[in-house]
Amino acid sequence: MTVKKICCIGAGYVGGPTCAVIAYKCPGIQVTIVDLNQARIDAWNSDNLPIYEPGLEDVVFARRGKNLFFSTDVDKAINDADLIFVSVNTPTKKTGMGAGSAADLAYVESATRRIAEVATSSKIVVEKSTVPCRTAQSMRTILEANCRENIRFDILSNPEFLAEGTAITDLFNPDRVLIGALQTEEGLKAQQALVEIYTHWVPIERVITTNLWSSELSKLAANAMLAQRISSINALSAICEATGADVDEVAYACGRDSRIGPKFLKASVGFGGSCFQKDILNLVYLAEQFHLPEVAAYWRQVVIMNEYQKERFVHRIISTLFNTITNKKIAVLGFAFKKDTGDTRESAAITLIKDFIQEHARVHLYDPKVEHAQIYMDLIEPGVADSKAQVEKHLTICSSAYEACQDADAVVVVTEWDEFKDTHLDYQKIYDSMHKPAFIFDGRLILDAPKLRKMGFKVEVIGKHNLA
Ligand code: NAD
Repeated sequence: MTVKKICCIGAGYVGGPTCAVIAYKCPGIQVTIVDLNQARIDAWNSDNLPIYEPGLEDVVFARRGKNLFFSTDVDKAINDADLIFVSVNTPTKKTGMGAGSAADLAYVESATRRIAEVATSSKIVVEKSTVPCRTAQSMRTILEANCRENIRFDILSNPEFLAEGTAITDLFNPDRVLIGALQTEEGLKAQQALVEIYTHWVPIERVITTNLWSSELSKLAANAMLAQRISSINALSAICEATGADVDEVAYACGRDSRIGPKFLKASVGFGGSCFQKDILNLVYLAEQFHLPEVAAYWRQVVIMNEYQKERFVHRIISTLFNTITNKKIAVLGFAFKKDTGDTRESAAITLIKDFIQEHARVHLYDPKVEHAQIYMDLIEPGVADSKAQVEKHLTICSSAYEACQDADAVVVVTEWDEFKDTHLDYQKIYDSMHKPAFIFDGRLILDAPKLRKMGFKVEVIGKHNLA
């Protein structure tokens, strides 16, 4: 079968860019991206898109109103489509981190029920959300129990591997596209229909076809392995700080081994983002469900290490600032979980700033892309007495790095935005405007520490012994 109309349920960080790129690369296919969130859809239909991604505007503005549409009319888009992507959020259930935490599949379930209730013709339904292994089975049960007569649904798994900040490049030129299907005649036909969409621009040798369960598990496994590399180098960064080894040199030396490779070996204050922790906890949950406690403990340690890395950094900052940050002014550079995105989900900055506020520091924060309202939403803990007042008392959001650093006792680099590099910012000007001694803490290894030390800064870097 040839797909002519696509619906994507969920206009978020994945559904929006992914389906906009399909519309861009396949002008003959009509793509409608729907969401229940009216404000988000209004933004997709405006000049001010709801998410920041380099290159996204070019793609959206080229096709919007031609073969790319954004709408809140979920039912109509479902009914019109031959193929429906389910790209809704799958957050971690709030059951704590000690036990593995299941993904909350409420949004997947309600989107699936909607498809079953509304569809008047057969559809291919594609899991784009990251889901636990065997979710397709639950979707099938829901679809078959609620649909009209003589309608069939073929379910595919097509997890998304894009990284925020490079989403458009990743979608234009993916390492691989993974499509899992039931190994039946109908399942394989549906799989072929999706392969045909991607091969409009992705070379066929990069399209991997598997069974449904391998595809679902591969997404969790890939994120777990990526996060594991970060936790591994971060664990080594602690040993570097204690011994005088340099984490950049260790990463380079290890990465030159072609079996290890150089990518994803950058030490930092810890990984963030909506996916790594959630997907590992999901894997831990799966392992527990299948009575594999050692497997669960193995993967859980990756998340524990990440939390420890943030704690270590906060501890290092406080102990360096003579064991107290009460009333000290700390300039925090960056709030997004990584550069080139406005996304703050699970950002290390949230943990750090909460800790600084708890220690009564005055935090002056600057991030080039994150909305101010989002920052308050992330820092104020609902239901905690005094949380709003404390955040408002201790936090000032600034409109430039220079403003944040003015009169500061310490600068803490949390996000690796290019504009914070010493090739972009005038650190001499910053040094001159700060209280002395002027401290700088590089949580992203983006600064030239010897150069800053020559200016007079006391510099502390993740994974490096303090030579100041
Ligand atoms: P998101 O929260 O940005 O977007 C999800 C959207 O779905 C929201 O706008 C929400 O309003 C909408 N939605 C929820 N239920 C709906 C329903 N029943 N009908 C219509 N709309 C509905 O989430 P995201 O970051 O795009 O992630 C989506 C999925 O993709 C998740 O499973 C995530 O794990 C996975 N993923 C995310 C990334 C990433 O980098 N963000 C990368 C790969 C995979």
